[in-house]
Amino acid sequence: MGRLADDAARLGVTLNADQEAQFEQLAAELVCWNAHTNLTAITDPEGVRVRHFLDSLTVPVRPDDRVIDVGTGAGFPGLPLALAHPSLRVTLLEATGKKIAFLEHMIELLGLTNAVTLHARAEDAGQHPAHRAAYDLAVARAVARLPVLLEYLLPLVRVGGRCIAMKGITAHEEAESARRALRTLGGRLIGIETVMLPGVAEPHHLVMVEKTASTPPLYPRKPGTPSKKPL
Ligand code: SAM
Repeated sequence: MGRLADDAARLGVTLNADQEAQFEQLAAELVCWNAHTNLTAITDPEGVRVRHFLDSLTVPVRPDDRVIDVGTGAGFPGLPLALAHPSLRVTLLEATGKKIAFLEHMIELLGLTNAVTLHARAEDAGQHPAHRAAYDLAVARAVARLPVLLEYLLPLVRVGGRCIAMKGITAHEEAESARRALRTLGGRLIGIETVMLPGVAEPHHLVMVEKTASTPPLYPRKPGTPSKKPL
């Protein structure tokens, strides 16, 4: 894990020795829990370092951002972001109870005071007064195609806030297919950034969206509808 700080520095993220030790603890617990709870397919040390930790740290955050990570799973990208950027306030939203149990365990073990879990469906959180339009940034990786994902993310963000979808090779095609969702939900495509990770041949993409208008109250529709009938 020693190379994590060097590679993170290349992404513009500074990690001190305490933070590096916390990342090591997170990697060890992830592998340990994965033996009895299915959290992730990536468990080799290099895969965890690059595809979970560094990939998460490519998300461009702003100081003091209120961030929600939708469908965070075992905490990616939200947990590394909270660890690396103490000024953020990070909400880790996940529908699966066993993953929430892991995240609660990690927050306590690492003594993280800037991260909380939210055991919910994104569709329900987006209609809840405590969460609707309550965040500066909504982020997600490997959760749904963009037209569906935007119905999860945009209702959670304040007007003027941002959504970032972490995508693979389909990023441009998904952005094209999300025009109607953007128009309907009050979003505007800012751009698509390409990210290269050390030792990974295929580029990753960050689809960046700005919230330009309030999302109509109808959205998000009830759980399951966004994926069954994408905008
Ligand atoms: N973001 C993590 C990552 O990249 O490692 C996890 C990705 S995993 C493939 C997708 C996660 O999204 C699952 O843990 C699933 O339970 C969660 N998820 C999918 N749809 C959801 C929804 N509508 N509301 C909340 N969580 C959802």
